[in-house]
Amino acid sequence: MIPAPQVPRRVRGAVTASAALVLLLSGCEDEPREPATSPSTSVTPRPDSSTEAPRTPRATVTAPTIDPEPPLADLVVVLDPGHQLGNTAFPAEVQALVDAGGFSKPCNTTGTATDGGYPEATFTWEVARVTQRLLHRLGARVLLTRSSNSVAAWGPCVDERGLAGNPGQPGPTADLKVSIHADGSLVPGAHGFHVIAPEAREPWTTDIAAPSLEMAEVVRDVMVEEGFATSTYVGSDGIDVRSDLGTLNLADIPTVMVELGNMRDPGDAGLMTSTAGRRHYASALALSIRRLSAR
Ligand code: ZN
Repeated sequence: MIPAPQVPRRVRGAVTASAALVLLLSGCEDEPREPATSPSTSVTPRPDSSTEAPRTPRATVTAPTIDPEPPLADLVVVLDPGHQLGNTAFPAEVQALVDAGGFSKPCNTTGTATDGGYPEATFTWEVARVTQRLLHRLGARVLLTRSSNSVAAWGPCVDERGLAGNPGQPGPTADLKVSIHADGSLVPGAHGFHVIAPEAREPWTTDIAAPSLEMAEVVRDVMVEEGFATSTYVGSDGIDVRSDLGTLNLADIPTVMVELGNMRDPGDAGLMTSTAGRRHYASALALSIRRLSAR
């Protein structure tokens, strides 16, 4: 859940349809590439030069198998699991103001929860970890913005989340970032997911607004294909554009924030609190990233 905006929002940024994602990379395709060399080679030994000696039996020597390059090799992804389980225990730290892209905003919030008490921080953490595993299998390098889901920890603040993966930051520069959240709307019947892209806002997000919106549309499309309903209560057709989020404003790589559903809705909550449901969310995110990388 993202707190109420502090600056005007929901102005849909101008989009250049031809804007190419800067995501990738060298010809990633849906299917693994052919290996550079033949996986096996038959070798027939020469007959022994001595006619007295028994002939060496024919043998097949198999060369070492060279694995095909995985489809997301070389891709670096930042996954940002929203909030931290211990944020409620550190109010001073969490409420301290940080830069959120030309204006100040609290470091973080506690996030929301289902009516049954399942916290957003735990949901986002578990979805991020499954997504990380799926992306690892495809060859991607995945960085998480927090290393635990703990009642004894807080943060990181939104400025740190926004800067993660940027050029010049500690660690590798990432190709893209997905910030994972869930909403907590009390609007009756409100349910479904939406994907938030940054508004083009000089000088903060003019560089990433177009590729981030394109990324948001791919994530939206894949989630719809996977059977998830778009939000009934915010955005348009599963997409929202905002200027008030430090996580988006401070990014210099294509970045979206996903609100995977409304934790206060019984249907969405049922998915979020089940292992199979979380795996489905994670699978959709990983598939989105794979599709993006193939463009
Ligand atoms: Zn949240």
